[in-house]
Amino acid sequence: MPDPQHPRSTVGRVYLVGAGPGDPGLLTLRGAECLARADLVLYDGLVNPLLLRHSHALAEQTCRVDGPAGRVLRQDEINRRLIEAARSGKTVVRLKGGDPFIFGRGSEEAAALSDAGIPFEVVPGITAATGAAVYTGISLTHRDHASAVAFVTGHEDPTKSTSLDYVALATFPGTLVFYMGLHRLGAIAQSLIGAGKPTSTPVCVVSRATTPRQRSVTGTLQDIASLATAAELHAPSLVIIGDCVRLREQARWFEDRPLFGQVIGIARPEEQADDTALRAVELGAQPLVLPTIEIAPPDNWEEVDAILSRLNEYDWIVFTSVNGVNGLLGRLLESGRDMRAIAKSRLAAIGPSTAAALRKYSLRADLVPTEFRAEALARELGPHVAGKNVLWARASRGRDVLPVELAAAGATLKQLVVYQNRDVDRLPASSLLPFERGEVNWIGLSSPSIARSLARLLTDDAKSWLGNKTKLASISPVTTAAAREAGLPIAAEAVEFTWEGLFQAMIISSGEKPEES
Ligand code: SAH
Repeated sequence: MPDPQHPRSTVGRVYLVGAGPGDPGLLTLRGAECLARADLVLYDGLVNPLLLRHSHALAEQTCRVDGPAGRVLRQDEINRRLIEAARSGKTVVRLKGGDPFIFGRGSEEAAALSDAGIPFEVVPGITAATGAAVYTGISLTHRDHASAVAFVTGHEDPTKSTSLDYVALATFPGTLVFYMGLHRLGAIAQSLIGAGKPTSTPVCVVSRATTPRQRSVTGTLQDIASLATAAELHAPSLVIIGDCVRLREQARWFEDRPLFGQVIGIARPEEQADDTALRAVELGAQPLVLPTIEIAPPDNWEEVDAILSRLNEYDWIVFTSVNGVNGLLGRLLESGRDMRAIAKSRLAAIGPSTAAALRKYSLRADLVPTEFRAEALARELGPHVAGKNVLWARASRGRDVLPVELAAAGATLKQLVVYQNRDVDRLPASSLLPFERGEVNWIGLSSPSIARSLARLLTDDAKSWLGNKTKLASISPVTTAAAREAGLPIAAEAVEFTWEGLFQAMIISSGEKPEES
């Protein structure tokens, strides 16, 4: 999309955008707008890759250490990349963890752009301190406990000569938040005690704040270093020091979410996993997308196009998936027609997601069965279709319940393949690795074909965790049967046959209370 504020300039623009501390919901609206119009995104190691779904651009990670994510890019190289891309006319987003101007060298990048005459904009973000504090239930400026808050770098070694004045910090009338201080925690605590801060001052170390892997350890200046070591906390971590830490139990909420900290494999095609992944995050879980099948358009559109020109012949159109809705109605719009082409037809949707997909086209389903499965759809549709023409917008493969049952009910059924549903040959290594390491708690199976593909695609190492560390939840009895037949043990089954039902089954099986959606 061209940048509406700067149409047709030959030099592109750079947006330095704060990505927030980890939770993908903690991005500003402006940040999302910039991502949507970017041609290139350079993001740093603290950024949650889930944010990249706001962008269609080429995205590249910049790292401070060589590793699987990529090669180290030095700061001057990053600056040069930004300048070069902008000069070639690209709209560039430089996405940085937290707020770009808080301990993030964002101001140096801005200065380099300014020197090079590149237009830029800086979009603030939620910095780790406020994110970590709120997600652990701490008010950094609680009026009974702090009149001020200081963001302090823990990067400087307090035992050597340092620009930090520990006497001033020890007498500071408020909360101290140390960034980059985990590995110097002992020295920082001892320096503050040495400068007169009471040993009993409460401290909370929060690691991976605002993500499903958030962990927090609470202690005092005296014992926090050994507590943090014992808990084996990981970077990035933040240290919050002050009396406000005492009140955290009253305001804690995030770590109490029903699937907090659970890693959940979501076996869905890539392009459909977004909403489900976000719901998993909302429940406190870490989603891991497992694209076991891929969705593709039909090999050719001839048959679909022929039917589109005479849709008014159908009394009912039946949709059994979101893809079916998008396949048929997307093609209808592309062909230059609009929804008046189906004005005479009544519409049936198998469940709430399919009905919601219809609503995106301003259509209301006339029939959604009380139970979201083909048998129930056939049963409830049956009385309406005797002697009628029915069109089923379907996948290239699937169950044959509808044709049999609707024919028995006296309908003339036209089955129209509007999308293909194909098995992938292998799962990406990034999806498989956490399974092989036994880091995954749940996999949600949302159809029999997904269950069968998963049985084929999981490696023996990954399978060795099934049933103990990694549990499987099935969306319906039909899926359970297919999974068992393929040798997969099922630990929980959804009562309502939707992804929400799957999550609730996982929650109940983990011994938690189900939650209202
Ligand atoms: N610009 C960033 C900070 C960059 S410095 C911001 O505004 O948040 C990197 C330090 O930030 C880390 O060493 C750690 O102390 C802190 N940090 C960043 N993300 C964090 C997270 N999710 N949890 C805890 N600390 C975090």
